[in-house]
Amino acid sequence: MRSWWSKIFGDSSASCWFCQSPRPRVIGDHVWEQLCAGCMEKRKILAYPQCKVCGKPSSIDDSFCYDCQRTPEYERVVNISCVEYNHWARLVVQQWKYRGDERLSRPMGLWMASLIKQRFLSRDRFLITYVPCHRNRVYERGFDQAKQLAHIIGAQLHVPVMDLLVRQSYQDQQQSKRSREQRLQALVGAFSYQGKQMDVSGQSVLLVDDVYTTGSTVRECAKLLRRANFQPVACTFARANSEYV
Ligand SMILES: [Zn+2]
Ligand SMILES: [Zn+2]
Repeated sequence: MRSWWSKIFGDSSASCWFCQSPRPRVIGDHVWEQLCAGCMEKRKILAYPQCKVCGKPSSIDDSFCYDCQRTPEYERVVNISCVEYNHWARLVVQQWKYRGDERLSRPMGLWMASLIKQRFLSRDRFLITYVPCHRNRVYERGFDQAKQLAHIIGAQLHVPVMDLLVRQSYQDQQQSKRSREQRLQALVGAFSYQGKQMDVSGQSVLLVDDVYTTGSTVRECAKLLRRANFQPVACTFARANSEYV
């Protein structure tokens, strides 16, 4: 039964979209504000200035981070991310991805959508795709996470979503537990392009994924999209803040 107070004034509190703890309803309408005080303190929005390619926080404006400096220009992919991949973001991703908490897709997707709107949506022709899971992984987890984020973002921004890539390799080890060399090796031939051959020259495609670590997955997928004449850019929910994770 609702208390006399909430009958008169409405509910004064709501719950945090991540940990379900109570939070004041008055905080704000944006999804990044609908967190409890504890989560609000632990989540870290990526600070500026950032590397102008991959979004890594940097001390100098308009610069390239070390990782991007040693990546050939034709392989660089502009990436934007909502938060730093710190302990809090890791918990969000683990809860969502490995414990199958599908309810987290919506706040994560809405957060990404609002960043994309700010940074990328002025581009003329635009569509969305994602870094896909292998079909066996989708079967294990019950859903393709990045695909779900892509569809939430597409619906929010009224941008079409297309299945352009397919994951060929089924790895039994989490990406985050691999060394950089193992990761690069595992990516050789890991994806293929499955979109139709069409006239897309000049069309920007937004590649959606959950976490940006070294950027090798994003670059590998972008390579295939470029071969199909798209201009890829990327948006990831969280971004690691060290060169090698
Ligand atoms: Zn919370
Ligand atoms: Zn960079």
